[in-house]
Amino acid sequence: MNGREIAPGVFWLGGCFEATMLTRPIHYHVSAFLIIGSHKSVLYDTGDPHHWPSIAPVLTRLLAGRPLDYLFPSHPEIPHAGNLAALLERYPAATVVGDIRDYHVHYPEYTERLVALRHHERLDLGDRVLEVIPAYIHDLPNTLWAYDTGSGALFVSDGFSYVHHLPTPADEASHLPGQCWLLSSELPEPPSVEQAAYGTGRALYWTRFVDVSETFNHIGELLVQRSTRLIAPAHGNVISDVEPMIKISLAAHREVYAASASAGVDRAG
Ligand SMILES: [Zn+2]
Ligand SMILES: [Zn+2]
Repeated sequence: MNGREIAPGVFWLGGCFEATMLTRPIHYHVSAFLIIGSHKSVLYDTGDPHHWPSIAPVLTRLLAGRPLDYLFPSHPEIPHAGNLAALLERYPAATVVGDIRDYHVHYPEYTERLVALRHHERLDLGDRVLEVIPAYIHDLPNTLWAYDTGSGALFVSDGFSYVHHLPTPADEASHLPGQCWLLSSELPEPPSVEQAAYGTGRALYWTRFVDVSETFNHIGELLVQRSTRLIAPAHGNVISDVEPMIKISLAAHREVYAASASAGVDRAG
């Protein structure tokens, strides 16, 4: 299922990492998304280097001889940009786009292939456009989201993280085979607030200290303005039931914030 087409011309690549909880495995996605337009193609995030041996052949198959035109890492961290050098080498015509403010330090040999994009600039892919969206929930200051007009998919990097199963002491088989590549609406049960809180609290340390209610109002407006049909997080199954998952994600943020308050975390300063 690596490379699953989640909407016409939008492909989900990457894989899950496995941690242990209650002696049982717990899965954590690291995903990348390929968007193929009639003229140009773009890879949003690169996947983790650990998954490169499976990502590379899937890219070759999906591109079917076409070049990969744009590489758009959401921000320069290993799970999001770790395959950048391998991709630049493999696709010599590809340009790195996004908020590339520090990339020349990481990749001095590729400085000429870096192109800065600002908020709401648009990459013309032919029959569709990828718009750069400010990251309302982010890790690094230069994180960017993106919106594909062709599919109504919003790519949100570390936003809306969740694990697709949380083991309980009663579980027989904690991670059910085949769940890694399911859309959220295809999971046997809708993701719980606890599953989202597990992902959120680990992907984004700051969420323990910030009340995000106001941020979620802005996100709600964005989802209406851009008629979002899919949300594609780097760390979670692709979200196909957008409205209920927004509520779950907000509840998870509140739970992470409240837990730090009850633990006596000092938020001053
Ligand atoms: Zn991340
Ligand atoms: Zn998995």
